[in-house]
Amino acid sequence: MHACGNFLRKGEGCPYSERSMSINKDREERAYPLNQIYFYLTEGCNLRCRHCWIAPKFQTEKRSYPVLSMDFFRSIIKQAKPLGLSGVKLTGGEPLMHPDIDGILEHIKRENLNLTVETNGILCTLEIAQKMAACKNPFVSVSLDGADASTHEWVRGISGCFDETLQGIRNLVDAGLKPQIIMSLMRRNKDHMERLVQLAETLGAESVKFNLTMPIARGEKLHESGDTLTIEELVEIGSWVENTFSDSIELRIVYDHPPAFRPLGKMFGDNGDGCSRCGILGILGVLANGSYSLCGIGENVAELVFGHVESERLENIWKKTVILNELREGLTERLEGICGSCLMKNVCLGSCIAQNYYSNKNLWAPHWFCEAAQKKGLFPKTRLRPSNSNISSND
Ligand code: SF4
Ligand code: SF4
Repeated sequence: MHACGNFLRKGEGCPYSERSMSINKDREERAYPLNQIYFYLTEGCNLRCRHCWIAPKFQTEKRSYPVLSMDFFRSIIKQAKPLGLSGVKLTGGEPLMHPDIDGILEHIKRENLNLTVETNGILCTLEIAQKMAACKNPFVSVSLDGADASTHEWVRGISGCFDETLQGIRNLVDAGLKPQIIMSLMRRNKDHMERLVQLAETLGAESVKFNLTMPIARGEKLHESGDTLTIEELVEIGSWVENTFSDSIELRIVYDHPPAFRPLGKMFGDNGDGCSRCGILGILGVLANGSYSLCGIGENVAELVFGHVESERLENIWKKTVILNELREGLTERLEGICGSCLMKNVCLGSCIAQNYYSNKNLWAPHWFCEAAQKKGLFPKTRLRPSNSNISSND
């Protein structure tokens, strides 16, 4: 799974060549715009998902957990705009559990920022959906991990949540939005893919994205217990999605394996829908307590928390944090293992630096999916630099 869903939206085109150029250009100018902030608005969640990479605490009416203060939220946006901020992502925990979600959405609209929301949909009333729809370029993704209640609720840990999520999706559609539905693939739901796409079409979704469950936080336990799919299965399903399934249906389908596994024609050219990439050079995370972090991984990895809004100017954090500057200098030349040998590395940037660091305590470590595929001889030989094409791989 791509932790942040940092996938181009339809029509954005793939920045293959622009990306490499912009990395070089940025290096020359030493200017890295802070394009987007990921706000982890809440430490709590109303579900208990088996695969969650943040692993928030379960919140009930009797027990609640910290949320980002509105003063911090406004202050961060004010400081970020001169650094280049064009959009925000609201995530969590469950972002719609923030007690002032109305005020947050109104502020985003007032500031004319692009809006992305990742939600489980349960608290998505028509009123909230309309507030999202009023923001600039709204993009909302809703998690649905099975085509029936028993499968979805097994993954999500709370009975009754399937119908509530479907209602949330209907409210988004009634508000004029076309949400993306995200399913995290695992052994329990792998046979639901076609039915889930049919359900998404019926509901009026714009696309379906299949995430690969990452070995991180709760997802790590799922990997250990054998509830995730093997690399052989993931590669095979990906090939079926790219070459057969996605061509047979109208709805846009995203299978979130790294770009080395995607046919070039699906990413580039007139019919290409772009490619996933790590957005780390233009993104900063803000945790619910007001700390700055490398995306949301600071929730799990203390050394990737960079400071707090009360004590540090955002400009200092963005321009002077050692790890961020190391990434600017080192991506992509310092990527190691299969990522270092990969022809796609300037597009992909190692897929997810946060995941790579979590697993190896090393910013330059290779991505788990491509590394596992390489070990099994499944990495596409055509995506290796010529000098490395004799390493164990697949044609
Ligand atoms: S490291 Fe990159 S891919 Fe991973 S969550 Fe952060 S921006 Fe997204
Ligand atoms: S090997 Fe690394 S750089 Fe290449 S596609 Fe896989 S994750 Fe991306």
